[in-house]
Amino acid sequence: MPEHNATVTEIEELAPSVVQLTVALNDRDFHFAPGQWVNFGFPEGVSRAYTIASAPQRPEAVQLCVRVGAGKGGDALKRLAPGAAVSIDGPYGDFILPEAEGRPVAFLAGDTGIAPIRSIVLHMLAVDDRRKITVLYEPDQRHILYAGDFDPLARSGSIVHESGRIEALIARNRKTVESSRKMAAGFDGFLARVQSALRANGMDTSEVIVESFGPEP
Ligand SMILES: Cc1cc2nc3c(=O)[nH]c(=O)nc-3n(C[C@H](O)[C@H](O)[C@H](O)COP(=O)(O)OP(=O)(O)OC[C@H]3O[C@@H](n4cnc5c(N)ncnc54)[C@H](O)[C@@H]3O)c2cc1C
Repeated sequence: MPEHNATVTEIEELAPSVVQLTVALNDRDFHFAPGQWVNFGFPEGVSRAYTIASAPQRPEAVQLCVRVGAGKGGDALKRLAPGAAVSIDGPYGDFILPEAEGRPVAFLAGDTGIAPIRSIVLHMLAVDDRRKITVLYEPDQRHILYAGDFDPLARSGSIVHESGRIEALIARNRKTVESSRKMAAGFDGFLARVQSALRANGMDTSEVIVESFGPEP
């Protein structure tokens, strides 16, 4: 994939140790499907995979939602400042919602795993995708990321958005989840618990579309 030069325009703390980076690409040749990720190149040369949290309808302001880890990427994040020149390599990944399906969609997200799901949901609403959307979200320490987007949508009935322990959410929404196309994103420990919870509720996990962020930072 070609590497794109970009500038960090905003860094916002969404929760303790979670930041949203807004990035402006210096060229217009960057296109992505909602759900994809990029290799984000820090000014000092370190690069890390981060998933795009914004919808493709806003290519001028690409947003990434990142937990600040204990490794080199986390260190580089702490030093990053608005105005920094960075590189974006990508997009990559196949965490992509199949288009030609009639069934509802159930998203299962843990912590910053909400990033690709926010991109997909905002895109579905922008293109008037009529499938029923259920977002089951396990936050870290009760910090509901992107509540400002999801709460109004849930209140207006455009989506269902529930938060809590993922096992309890899956059990409570068993019928909906069972009949839906399932997509799960987050760190490895969370994804393992999702698989167990789906199986415990009698569901086949072979068709779940999964995006793993690797080990918990
Ligand atoms: C496809 C993909 C998409 C991703 N998308 C996102 C995303 O959207 N948002 C997000 O938050 N993350 C995402 N990640 C995870 C991200 O890329 C990093 O792996 C994560 O941020 C940790 O990076 P790090 O540099 O802090 O840790 P790394 O240097 O990669 O180290 C990995 C882990 O080792 C341990 N470790 C390393 N060094 C130390 C140290 N000095 N002391 C103690 N422990 C240490 C820590 O547990 C650390 O998290 C994604 C990963 C993948 C593969």
